[in-house]
Amino acid sequence: HPIIEGIDVHKRYGAFHALKGVTARFYPGEVTAILGPSGSGKSTFLRMLNRLEKHDAGQIFIDGIELNDDPKHLAAIRREVGMVFQNFNLFTHLTVLRNVALAPMRIRKVARKAAETRAMALLERVGLADHAHKYPIQLSGGQQQRVAIARALAMDPKVLLFDEPTSALDPEMVNEVLTVMRELAHTGITMLVVTHEMGFAREVADRVLFFDQGSILEDTTPDRFFNDP
Ligand code: ADP
Ligand code: ADP
Repeated sequence: HPIIEGIDVHKRYGAFHALKGVTARFYPGEVTAILGPSGSGKSTFLRMLNRLEKHDAGQIFIDGIELNDDPKHLAAIRREVGMVFQNFNLFTHLTVLRNVALAPMRIRKVARKAAETRAMALLERVGLADHAHKYPIQLSGGQQQRVAIARALAMDPKVLLFDEPTSALDPEMVNEVLTVMRELAHTGITMLVVTHEMGFAREVADRVLFFDQGSILEDTTPDRFFNDP
């Protein structure tokens, strides 16, 4: 069954209709690139999926559980759906290691030592074990974004949402983040990636969604999207 299901999802900001009935299902292990012009609702759609914001109408199911106001559900959703933002959103007053260990300690009540051991393994995986005891500001943007990915992985989510993860980076740092994302894509985690990186969409994604003015205009394969006239 789908790990994420959105059925006729609507979102309005005042009079502005940002999502106009979006329906899409995402299956375990699928990597979806979400493309489309600025303002077309891509980021709004991602924020609906992990309940950073509420949808006004329609239904969203995460692993079969409908998103609603039940706080028990919200906690489950936050565990299953990780998110990586354009601007990293790291905690500036915590070391890199503590940034990655924090959510498992707070939310899953993992003991500090165990959480930090696992955080270290995740930092190794994104190539940053040597920077574990630094503060985010001492790292480059590309390194900070890799920390943010490790932090999202620390909760063992089934789904990772990426909202323009390379858009705030200097060009020379884009590849180190895309490389980590490419490796992740091969691990079987479900990924939804809002991006302007057409290379990633073409070479890594299984599927392309193209948003326009709050609707999905195309839902197809990268091959069809990039090669059909
Ligand atoms: P995209 O990610 O495709 O660039 P967004 O989902 O960020 O688009 O935004 C879709 C539209 O909704 C934009 O016109 C944006 O200005 C508007 N919008 C997004 N968030 C808000 C908000 N919190 N309040 C009002 N308008 C918003
Ligand atoms: P993006 O780069 O994803 O398109 P935006 O610049 O559209 O981001 O939005 C950045 C933040 O500002 C988001 O949290 C969004 O909800 C909010 N936002 C966007 N447009 C508006 C708006 N017209 N009024 C209020 N908040 C907005």
